[in-house]
Amino acid sequence: MQQHDVLIVGGGMIGAATALSLAELGLKVVMFEQHQPQAFSNEQAFDLRVSAISLASENLLQDLGAWQQIHQWRACPYRRLGVWESELAYAEFNADAINQPHLGHIVENRLIQLSLWQQAKQHQGIKLILGQPITDINQQTDSIAVDTEQERFIARLVVAADGANSFVRQQAKIGCTGWNYQQSAMLINVKTEFPQQDITWQQFTPSGPLAMLPLLGNHASLVWYEHKDRIKQLAQLTNDELTAQIAQHFPAKLGEIEVVDKGYFPLTRQHANKYVQGNVVLLGDAAHTINPLAGQGVNLGFKDVLALRNAIADAIANGTSWHSATVLNNYEQVRRKDNLLMMTAMDGLYATFSNDSPILKAVRNIGLFAAQRVPPTIKNKVLAYACGL
Ligand SMILES: Cc1cc2nc3c(=O)[nH]c(=O)nc-3n(C[C@H](O)[C@H](O)[C@H](O)COP(=O)(O)OP(=O)(O)OC[C@H]3O[C@@H](n4cnc5c(N)ncnc54)[C@H](O)[C@@H]3O)c2cc1C
Repeated sequence: MQQHDVLIVGGGMIGAATALSLAELGLKVVMFEQHQPQAFSNEQAFDLRVSAISLASENLLQDLGAWQQIHQWRACPYRRLGVWESELAYAEFNADAINQPHLGHIVENRLIQLSLWQQAKQHQGIKLILGQPITDINQQTDSIAVDTEQERFIARLVVAADGANSFVRQQAKIGCTGWNYQQSAMLINVKTEFPQQDITWQQFTPSGPLAMLPLLGNHASLVWYEHKDRIKQLAQLTNDELTAQIAQHFPAKLGEIEVVDKGYFPLTRQHANKYVQGNVVLLGDAAHTINPLAGQGVNLGFKDVLALRNAIADAIANGTSWHSATVLNNYEQVRRKDNLLMMTAMDGLYATFSNDSPILKAVRNIGLFAAQRVPPTIKNKVLAYACGL
């Protein structure tokens, strides 16, 4: 039985980024994952699961040595972000305003994971355990054991990066608060009449937002938020029928499209009551899931990764115990506040915009109208915050 420093359960985007971040500090890391991501090839169609990656997340991925490969595979930059409900109240944010070349990139989740794995596999400090289900987790005073059917692993710390239905969180008996939204999100990959665009946009409608995320070439990812029953109906349509529905409901600025692939996802808000329990710490969706309408979920997870790395790095530099309650609580203190703020902001947007009331409609259009006209210093601060800067 080997002694390790950190056992990370979940090798998705957040688990893999945590593994590299902590291994870079000299810690011996084991990462457990159930599924191997499919290797990349140029001929593959775009995956449905894509994320809008903020500048801050891009910087982290660059630090971890993963960004260059992602960029070489495929990632679509966007320089502008357009939001409106009625055309009269259109607000646009531009990368020039914050002196950046772009506001972010749309990237397939699998490619982020794959590139991080490539780096992790080359790192001497990381051991990858694939396809060995975890059967038990036992906390002891100053260590923690993770059992699979084949082996027992002992370490100082367990990181739960195993997503929204985290097994580790349940084993640590950490409860959650939250709810399911009335809306679901349909992700639709389309071929577009227009060549690659440098804008991502979202139109708010009383039944839910309609969003366009550009992909490389004549491709885009559309997100159709609607009541879950309606989304279930849309999911039954053939690609041709769905193409016709999109032409009817999406704004004309989308141009002609052809549906290539589609899938739908329930929307859940969930927040763990604590991020730390003894020597277990939660990161990413294991700690929080958020309404994706402003594409912040994995970006918040990457901020968790950075905060944990910083808290542990400070402790190592000061010669104190890097896995002490003080260090872990510092991580939680920094992240809980920020995550809660973003979750609440998204709920505010959801509640304000998913509503037919003429008074609220007037208020939100005045809000968007004003957003376009606030002094640039304020608008730029909001934009920089949304980009994670
Ligand atoms: C419709 C939709 C659109 C979204 N769009 C965006 C966006 O534009 N931008 C954005 O920032 N976020 C977005 N998100 C959110 C984003 O997808 C998540 O926040 C992100 O995937 C969370 O990453 P994670 O690594 O924490 O969890 P996951 O992606 O859930 O990864 C968890 C990993 O743990 C593994 N695992 C689970 N259990 C075990 C176990 N017992 N043992 C070993 N391995 C295990 C799983 O196989 C998986 O690989 C969106 C979400 C939805 C639903």
